[in-house]
Amino acid sequence: MSRFLSERFRSARPYVPGEQPQGGQRYIKLNTNESPFPPSPRVTAAITAEEVEKLRLYSDPDARPLTAAIARRYGVDGRQVFVGNGSDEVLAFAFLAFGSGGKAFRFPALSYGFYPVFARLFGVEFEAVPLREDFTIDPADYIGCGKNVVIANPNAPTGLALGRRTIGEIARSNPDSVVLVDEAYVDFGGESAVPLLGEHDNLLIVQTFSKSRSLAGMRVGFALGSPGLIGDLQQMKFSFNPYNLDRLAILAGTAAMEDEAYFCACTEKVCATRRRVTGALRALGFTVLESKANFVFAKPAGISGEALFTALRARGVLTRRWDEPLIRDYLRISIGSDEEMDAFLQKTAEILREAG
Ligand code: PMP
Repeated sequence: MSRFLSERFRSARPYVPGEQPQGGQRYIKLNTNESPFPPSPRVTAAITAEEVEKLRLYSDPDARPLTAAIARRYGVDGRQVFVGNGSDEVLAFAFLAFGSGGKAFRFPALSYGFYPVFARLFGVEFEAVPLREDFTIDPADYIGCGKNVVIANPNAPTGLALGRRTIGEIARSNPDSVVLVDEAYVDFGGESAVPLLGEHDNLLIVQTFSKSRSLAGMRVGFALGSPGLIGDLQQMKFSFNPYNLDRLAILAGTAAMEDEAYFCACTEKVCATRRRVTGALRALGFTVLESKANFVFAKPAGISGEALFTALRARGVLTRRWDEPLIRDYLRISIGSDEEMDAFLQKTAEILREAG
């Protein structure tokens, strides 16, 4: 830290992303919930030499073909769509727009690690509310709470999901607050709140192309909401980074959003593999939460979470774990291809045998 860093940021606690190995050793990478499948072939087709030549020009600040494709897919007006450089940027703009110097945010204490990081960075007051003992979110903590709300649904890292009706109740009972639903993982069996948008002008839904559309490396995320909320995010973006999506991201995102058949095939495959892996882990004695996401959150028996994590890593399998008291023995395991999951299960069984 240099002596020039301003006081405000001296105590910042940055988010620590999952490991992204570069070159060298090849890992079975089950640590950051990426898709095991390549992007839609339409993405490759969209990035032509002609489009590469156009990279000398700035991108469209309104990312028009992309916002139009998203609006069509979700049956909303173009003025109800905001696109960002990954949903992380969309979330950052939302914390800044609706919380900075204003109303506090409330979110679950065990959820996406970026929420408290954004809140601290932007000086947003927040309350992190513990989950119930079974890791579920208690809707009563949010219904009529009078605070801005952020709920990842399905939640991360648990994979547990709330129903649409509950989200509707939270939005209805907090009419003067923003209710942000982070649906990064909703395409793997969750119940999206998109059909509720017409009823609640305070509902903001955030989704990403990083998981179900295989574009984590392109950094494309979006928000759907009332024209008022979306206008606020636009204002934030135009005060900050008008060209937040580059030309390639706009092209790739549009192509991916328009390939519905490919999207369905990939998400169905991940769900089928998740069911199989859940059963296999339970047969090995694991406690496995009922996931509606592209990962499972699971606790082994007969070995600590840390020992299993380390032994898997030594055998070339990356998973994710957190050194927090309630979940220290759990691993979050992304759902990879069938071959990757077979290798993971086989190595896990070996490690358990050696430990037992
Ligand atoms: N929300 C949740 C709950 C996540 O787990 C993640 C990333 N893993 C994100 C948002 C951000 O995703 P991205 O910036 O890649 O869209």
